[in-house]
Amino acid sequence: MASNPISLMAVPKRSHYDAIIVGARCAGAATAMLLARASLKVLAIERKPYGSDTLSTHALMRPAVLQLWRWGLLDPLLRAGTPLIETTTFHYGDEEITIPLAAGSELPGLIAPRRTVLDRILVDAARKAGAEVLHEMAVGDLFADTHGRVRGIEIRAAGRASVRVSADIVVGADGIGSLVAKCVDAQPLRHGAVSAAHVYGYAPVEPGAGYHWYFRDGIAGSFIPTNDGLACIVASVPTGLFDQRFRLGHARARMDVLEALSPALAAQASLAPKDARLQAFRGLPGYIRQAYGPGWALVGDAGFFRDPITSHGISDALRDAESLARAILDGSGAAFAVWQQLRDLIANQILDTTDAVAGFDWTLDDIGERHRRFSAVLKAEVQALAGQPIPARRASKPATYRAPANQDKPPADLSRNRTGARP
Ligand SMILES: Cc1cc2nc3c(=O)[nH]c(=O)nc-3n(C[C@H](O)[C@H](O)[C@H](O)COP(=O)(O)OP(=O)(O)OC[C@H]3O[C@@H](n4cnc5c(N)ncnc54)[C@H](O)[C@@H]3O)c2cc1C
Repeated sequence: MASNPISLMAVPKRSHYDAIIVGARCAGAATAMLLARASLKVLAIERKPYGSDTLSTHALMRPAVLQLWRWGLLDPLLRAGTPLIETTTFHYGDEEITIPLAAGSELPGLIAPRRTVLDRILVDAARKAGAEVLHEMAVGDLFADTHGRVRGIEIRAAGRASVRVSADIVVGADGIGSLVAKCVDAQPLRHGAVSAAHVYGYAPVEPGAGYHWYFRDGIAGSFIPTNDGLACIVASVPTGLFDQRFRLGHARARMDVLEALSPALAAQASLAPKDARLQAFRGLPGYIRQAYGPGWALVGDAGFFRDPITSHGISDALRDAESLARAILDGSGAAFAVWQQLRDLIANQILDTTDAVAGFDWTLDDIGERHRRFSAVLKAEVQALAGQPIPARRASKPATYRAPANQDKPPADLSRNRTGARP
């Protein structure tokens, strides 16, 4: 298994942890925070620098904002200058439908924090709760016992002996290219059928702007107000169209899509400095993977990916971080089975309703109905989250805590999936 060069500046303080989390962004840092708040010894390792950006247009839907509020992190995000978004407008061709985001008495609206802000605040909260979070350090491999149960991680540094750190459970919060999923051979439970490309950049915006979502036959776009007086402006097209039209240059092709969607949107995008960078994502069909096994679990994009067009990835990551934390704290095989059942229930609905939009097989007559179906899933999700008790701080490790039991099926044999030494 290939490893990345790692920073030699910091090393884990312990040789064994209750939980090791690979990846420390919205899924990983949130899981680390919740477990550390429950007094577990937690190590999170993140390849990228503290406070760095990542590929994401970061519009939060209501479930994500609700989670951040429940965890006491909405105020820090607002204090960091993240603008409150109080309306959302759907543009279906020339028709506009504006919806006020009266998000309940606790939630004053929605937010779309830059990942430099959101991921940093989650990491700060994890550290404050007692988790060790090490950045610019990559996990190169996992190791397992003779029964195939994952026992820990291997950190490798160029020119240095690799370091092994053990844990009762290793959580892969390491995104789309998850090393943990590869090492444990996490089985795909479902593949999505479609993919869309998204090309985005930032332009100045007046305070008080809302979300805007644009749709015309075969193309879509979005306007997402964020930190620093900027809006993220996105052009979205089927991956096939991206391959044809964006090959010769992202800037002109993106502007053509924005102009076709709305001249006002294109004019707003043209306020960006001429040398402003664009980010492009060619698209990837969604997937749902087996979420846990002996000594391991997957959370966030590592276990479930859906097209970004419905802006729900961060909501999924924050919701599943909390339910995984509950399963880890319980420690029984039954708790993990229930966790996966609930994750699969909502993940399948999100994937169905997201692919119904990301497939671009709609017309302006039926796209509104597809949005209403997605919105119904969101409402049920918010109701379920709001009914959960806010995770309580515990004075000490819970008496019931034990590592997740082996499941009924035989444990994954890591050595099948690895090029490194057998555990
Ligand atoms: C173009 C695009 C636009 C999007 N827009 C939105 C949106 O508007 N709203 C929304 O809710 N969602 C959006 N999403 C989805 C959202 O970004 C993801 O769902 C979310 O980032 C998942 O969080 P995560 O923590 O699981 O993974 P990630 O954010 O991908 O974090 C995984 C981390 O793991 C680290 N890592 C990987 N391997 C290792 C290793 N071996 N050792 C150490 N660290 C490792 C990586 O460095 C990475 O930082 C978008 C996605 C894309 C691609």
